Amino acid sequence: MKLIYNDIFLDHNTGNHPENKLRLVPFSNVPVSGIIDGEDYLGLVHNGQYIADVQQKCSQNIPLGMDTVCAEKSFKTATKAVGATIMASGSGDFALIRPPGHHAFRGKAGGFCIFNNIAIAAEKLVEEGKKVLVFDFDGHFGDGTSSIFYDTDKVLFWSIHQYPAYPGTGTSCDIGEENGIGYNINVELPPKSGDDLLMSAFNTFLPVAKEFNPDIVAISAGFDGHKNDMILDLNYSLDSFFEIGRLLRSNFSNIFAALEGGYNPDILYKSVENFIAGINGTPKLHTERLSDSNYLVHRQYENRITELILKLRPFWSAL
Ligand SMILES: [Zn+2]
Repeated sequence: MKLIYNDIFLDHNTGNHPENKLRLVPFSNVPVSGIIDGEDYLGLVHNGQYIADVQQKCSQNIPLGMDTVCAEKSFKTATKAVGATIMASGSGDFALIRPPGHHAFRGKAGGFCIFNNIAIAAEKLVEEGKKVLVFDFDGHFGDGTSSIFYDTDKVLFWSIHQYPAYPGTGTSCDIGEENGIGYNINVELPPKSGDDLLMSAFNTFLPVAKEFNPDIVAISAGFDGHKNDMILDLNYSLDSFFEIGRLLRSNFSNIFAALEGGYNPDILYKSVENFIAGINGTPKLHTERLSDSNYLVHRQYENRITELILKLRPFWSAL
C-alpha cells in the first residue's frame, strides 16, 4: 500500500477551520500522483440536486452547513478526492485526501465532508458485483456511510467510534434495515477509551467481518482517536494504528483506504506512517506507551458490547 497524493488537496481553502490544509503539509515529501477526476462517479451515491447545489455554493463561497465550509476551488478538490479514492480501490492504496467524506449523506454535507469518498468507491465495487466491508476506525461515527448502505447486504459497515460525540448518532441499536439488517455494526466506545478497548472492539467483531467474506475491504482511515488529537476524548496511541493495519493485512488480502479525520498534523503524519507499515508488514516507525482505560470506562464498554453482541447474534454465527 502506498500513498496517492497530489498538491491539489491543499486547494480546499477552509481558513482557520480545524479541517485545513496544514493537516497535509507534513506529507509534502510524498511523490505526487496524477489524479483522475471523480466527478463522473458522484452520481453513484449523491443525487443530482445536491451535486449542483455544492457546485454553486462553492463558486460563491457559501458554507454547505454549520460546520462545513467551502471556497472556489473546493468542488474541484472534492471531486479529485473521490477520484483518488477510486484509484486507491483499484490499486490497493491509501488515498491521502481532503476534504474527508464519511459524514456526507446522499443529499447533505456535514462534519467537514462534502462527497462521501469511501462510499462512492464502495458503491462502484458493489455495482461490479463485489461484496465490500467498509471498516471505519475514525473516532467519529461515519453517519453518512452508514446511512448510504443501511438497507443492503452487499456492504457490511463496521464503525468503532466514541459515543457520545459528534454526530450524536451511531448506537448499538442501529443494525441496519430491510436486506441490510445485521449489516451495520456500531461499536460505541465511551469517552476516555484507550488502546485496550479499541483492540477489544476490533478483535470482538473481526470474526463477523471474516464471516461476511468480503471481496474487498474499504477503510475509512481516521486518526482523530489519538490521545493528542484535541477534537475527541479518546486515548489511542500510534501503536494501535500499526496494529490495526497489521491485523487487517493478516486477515484480508484486498484492502484500500481513504483518509478521514486526524487534526493534529504531526500526529496525523506519524499515524498514517504506522498504519501503512502495519498493512505492508514493514517495521513500526513510531512507538508510544500503550493506554489502558479506567475501571468505569471499562465497565461501561462491557455493558455496551454485551448488548451489541446480543443484537447481532441472530445474523452472525461467529458471535
Ligand atoms: Zn473524525
